[in-house]
Amino acid sequence: LKADLIALGAVAGYLKPARAVAVRAARIVFVGSEREALALRGPSTEILGDGRGFVTAGFVDAHLHFVALARRTVEVDCSNQRAPSIAAVIEAIRKGADRLPAGTWVRAFGYDESFLVERRAPTIAELDHASPAHPVRLLHRTGHAAVLNSLGFARLGMAPRDVLHEPGEVLKDRIPTPRGAELTQLVRDASRRLSAAGITCFHDPTPGASIDDLDRLRGWVEASDVSQRVVTYGALEASSVTRNGERYRHAGVKVMVSEASDADAVAAAVADADRRGMQVALHAVEGGPLVVAIDALRRLGAARVRERRHRIEHAALCPPAIAAEIARCGATVVTHPQFLTSFGEKYLAELSVEEREWLYPLRTLHEARVPIAFGSDSPIAAPWPLANIQAAVERRTERGHPLAPSESIDAATALTLHTRAGAAAARFDHAFGSIADGMLADLVVLAADPATVAPGDISSISVRATVIGGKMAWAA
Ligand SMILES: [Zn+2]
Repeated sequence: LKADLIALGAVAGYLKPARAVAVRAARIVFVGSEREALALRGPSTEILGDGRGFVTAGFVDAHLHFVALARRTVEVDCSNQRAPSIAAVIEAIRKGADRLPAGTWVRAFGYDESFLVERRAPTIAELDHASPAHPVRLLHRTGHAAVLNSLGFARLGMAPRDVLHEPGEVLKDRIPTPRGAELTQLVRDASRRLSAAGITCFHDPTPGASIDDLDRLRGWVEASDVSQRVVTYGALEASSVTRNGERYRHAGVKVMVSEASDADAVAAAVADADRRGMQVALHAVEGGPLVVAIDALRRLGAARVRERRHRIEHAALCPPAIAAEIARCGATVVTHPQFLTSFGEKYLAELSVEEREWLYPLRTLHEARVPIAFGSDSPIAAPWPLANIQAAVERRTERGHPLAPSESIDAATALTLHTRAGAAAARFDHAFGSIADGMLADLVVLAADPATVAPGDISSISVRATVIGGKMAWAA
């Protein structure tokens, strides 16, 4: 029997040195030398790579918001890289409005007052100036605030205010967003973008994801508009979704924990989801919320938490005592060190010298044997796993300032946190996430091994090809 596909290059994380991986149908059928693999070559076998690159299991992005990422591509980008001042924000919105018929909403995103040179959000008057004839909604980088122009408020029948907090709930379904065929096209583009980044599986823990939202996403996966394997976490009410597919699984319940959360209510939600057999993904970014999340998990017992792989999302600012508690409670941590790069300057400006040492404490968590998996939290940061790996090793801001360099981990470890650990975070590590005989053939061919290039060059390694379940998803 011949192979359908043979990937050539140094093989990541195999039990012995290997230079080739052969695939038949959806699975890996051979790992070893180039010579032995090429013996499986037939007339229709596809050969990936020239043997000089690196073959790894496909990247798992263990935390992104897929529909938001897809929609974002038709919105006006006002992130700091594109629009560092209010004048630049206004110019970007003006240009965006010029492309749209008068009266249609301009959806812009990405401002953050602490990054803008003026150190404040744009005013209603400034947005009116940018676009008097279009209603404008400019979303904060985090999604937790928005500013609108006068026409925007008038359209919504709301009294104008400087900043709209938690606009997701207020604006849901009130500002038209792409849907139907238009959205499906954006979804295909977004999936292709993930394939080009080497992402073969993503987890989508979007808070409040309803049964309808999940059904729609599953539909795109089944129709192959989305090529990746998809694991979702959503509202508790959606936990009755049982129609899992070959590449789609609804795994759990997303529970948001903030400074305002009541510990008993969080614990009750966690216990309820656990009782229904669901995994729990607890959003907790820093100190107080992390304590509440840990407390809720501790009530289940560490053995149960490990077995179910209940997870804490973010744990971005995590002092050593809390890291030790996370280890004791058995939780998996899903986090995104590339924020050190993207938002590092903000951390430097806003955190005390002591607090900076608590940012993304990867080495502390790893040495305490906490299972860690990496995600991008896209669209907040770009879905590019190599950037996360570089940030985990290098720990520098965009301008090159170090952030808690003692928390650095090595590139080979970081790679496993974006592959096997991501699969494990949704209990799929028996099926994919590493290269071995019989595993599903989710592979990426990189131009180089991240462990052999200078840390500052990891993010620029090119992705040559991406294979999902034995099928070519992307080739350079
Ligand atoms: Zn998120």
